[in-house]
Amino acid sequence: MADGPGPDARLQALLVAALDKVSQGIVVCDSEGRVLYRNAVARALDNARDGDLLAGKAIMSALEEALRGAPHEETLDLYSPARHTLEIHAYPLGSEPVPSGAVALVDDVTGLRRLEAVRRDFVANLSHELKTPLGALSLLAETLDSEEDPEVVARLTARVGEEATRFIRIVDDLLDLSRIEAGGIAPLAPVPVAALVDEAVRGFRDQAAAQGIELQVSPVDEGLVVLASQRDMVSAIANLVDNAIKYSEPGGTVRIEVDEREGSARIMVQDEGIGIPSRDQERIFERFYRVDRARSRSTGGTGLGLAIVRHVAEYHGGHVSVRSVEGEGSTFTIFLPLAALGRGSGSVPAQP
Ligand code: ADP
Repeated sequence: MADGPGPDARLQALLVAALDKVSQGIVVCDSEGRVLYRNAVARALDNARDGDLLAGKAIMSALEEALRGAPHEETLDLYSPARHTLEIHAYPLGSEPVPSGAVALVDDVTGLRRLEAVRRDFVANLSHELKTPLGALSLLAETLDSEEDPEVVARLTARVGEEATRFIRIVDDLLDLSRIEAGGIAPLAPVPVAALVDEAVRGFRDQAAAQGIELQVSPVDEGLVVLASQRDMVSAIANLVDNAIKYSEPGGTVRIEVDEREGSARIMVQDEGIGIPSRDQERIFERFYRVDRARSRSTGGTGLGLAIVRHVAEYHGGHVSVRSVEGEGSTFTIFLPLAALGRGSGSVPAQP
């Protein structure tokens, strides 16, 4: 009677099953370059699509190189079916004078590469953003040094203050962003949306009036309650109101309305300002992305406001969207899930 598979066969079966769970592609060949084994990831790579054919060829040539006796490494950029990058490492196997086989390990490093590119862009953007006010400060200092006219000195000194403020604002926004990204938001507590809107708008009445812009806040249903970090949500709404005023022309109206839609509070900030071209609407939530750099700079913008708004909304389980027509105006909407107990009670439930 057969005893079933021996310990070696059992180990082999287990190893083969285990290798199917590995996130790298693994291909093993014998000394003649004949493929003996592919794990699940490598098998998925080995179908007939364009990019995969190229990947298959690159793996085979890496194995051939390794069979000559030395490890081989190669990076492969593929553009079909989707753009991705593979890293292939091939090693000779066996201790004879010539290898008795070779193994190729394949990593899909697309995500990693994208992350590295985002980080590189961010550092380049950040350096540029910080260099601008610092460059201006250094120029102002030089000019002030040789200036004697008290009027000019006063004007230049005011400029020094403005540039320093811009610098501090960028750093503050960056610190805010990294705090939010690291999950450093204050514990969420039930807050009426009316209180958030009221606090966010309060600081802008004078600024709007000074720019000839009417600020209209529709009454907000006191029964709409969300779980929020008051400080962060107020700052997100304030960012939208600030932008709506900044990107409006005198005589325009900025409206803030709140309603309820499918279990969420919708906080809408609407302006009749310059609007946003449709090609830019996706990108304005990226850090430092601006449609018109000069206008943003002249209004003291850091280019980080909407990135903060998006992060705050998402942290609260919501999201932010934009609708805009160039030359007609924009509406930014924050959607926030309503607190389960808040709706309709008119009172704020205690935090559990
Ligand atoms: P900024 O500090 O430059 O205002 P934001 O992140 O707040 O940075 O906004 C990014 C860009 O989106 C702005 O530079 C501007 O081009 C555009 N933008 C934001 N809000 C509005 C708006 N209400 N109307 C028109 N453009 C806007």
